[in-house]
Amino acid sequence: MTRLCMPDGACRGIDIQGAQTGATTAYTPGRDGTVTVDNPQHERALREYGAFPANLGGRTRGGYRCPACGFGSYVKACSRCGGTCERET
Ligand SMILES: [Zn+2]
Repeated sequence: MTRLCMPDGACRGIDIQGAQTGATTAYTPGRDGTVTVDNPQHERALREYGAFPANLGGRTRGGYRCPACGFGSYVKACSRCGGTCERET
């Protein structure tokens, strides 16, 4: 299972069609701008759209860090405590 940050412009979500089943799975980013993917084929397809792995709690580069809990994030809203993160330099 992987958490991916959605690229800019994909805020309405991305539909991925399964190669084997033909079923369409809609990936719509949550409040923190990420989606959870447990299908490696879907993950690869989403990466081709520009999605990138969320680095949970780790060092971010050009991202944000929550001043309240220290959580590193690629988006401004802290996905751990819901606080507002500050841009990390
Ligand atoms: Zn926080």
